[in-house]
Amino acid sequence: MQLCRFNDDRLGLIRGDEVIDVTAALKVLPPCSYPLPKHDLLIAHLDTVRAEIEQLIQGAPLRHALTDVLLLSPVANPGKVVAAPVNYAKHLAEARDDQAIHHQNQIGEIQRVGLFLKASSSVVGASEGLRIARPDRRNDHEIELVAVIGKAGRNIPAAQALEHVAGYCVGLDMTVRGPEERSMRKSPDGYTVLGPWLTTADEVADVGTLDLLIEVNGEVRQRANTRDLIIGVAGLIEFASSFYTLQPGDILMTGTPEGVSQVFPGDRMVAQISGLGRMTVDIDD
Ligand code: MN
Repeated sequence: MQLCRFNDDRLGLIRGDEVIDVTAALKVLPPCSYPLPKHDLLIAHLDTVRAEIEQLIQGAPLRHALTDVLLLSPVANPGKVVAAPVNYAKHLAEARDDQAIHHQNQIGEIQRVGLFLKASSSVVGASEGLRIARPDRRNDHEIELVAVIGKAGRNIPAAQALEHVAGYCVGLDMTVRGPEERSMRKSPDGYTVLGPWLTTADEVADVGTLDLLIEVNGEVRQRANTRDLIIGVAGLIEFASSFYTLQPGDILMTGTPEGVSQVFPGDRMVAQISGLGRMTVDIDD
């Protein structure tokens, strides 16, 4: 199933080039009150919502053309955004070779430097666009495969890790280059783009063989395959959960391949991963 959040927080089911409005399925979510849970309510109850959607589509819910809707982040309230710093060998070489990328920061192997966190306030959907936070700096796109955690866990072994994934989407880990810590440079508003929608894990046969592609203004900048990840999705979940409990709705950004490059106000990025969809993201003027 491919589910989007669109327009005014509507829930949509993707069918070809249409979005079926299945917002009514959200009525199965339990009421929640202050203090809010540490997980995303929809992702935590995804199985129940999916069953309700199957019922709903027997009727004749409203349909929209995909081109007519505004796509929001498929996860509304991620508790945390966990990210892999340098997780493709060719990007490690590129980052070490280019002073404009490394800024005298030591670029270590992921096994040694570990993961980092991005502010959840940086998350947006494809249609929300983003504004360059520091126009005085180099700002880069990083296309990444994103796994959305579906089931809570701590110390999850790699062999069971994929059972904790609700689904996958395309991610852009936007980055201000410079000497500061990654968590600061990668957390401005809009610097985590998720979309175009959530593809549930049962629809992804092998997450280790997906093609990634991003074009900026029609020019290919990054083209890679997840088979070249240094630590794959299961290993990243094992690694992350050895430090903290993963919750439903937590976002795992798996790292970017080689080809990162600068973007400017007015640029249009088109990012796609095989089976997960293609999203167009504009950088505000
Ligand atoms: Mn990244």
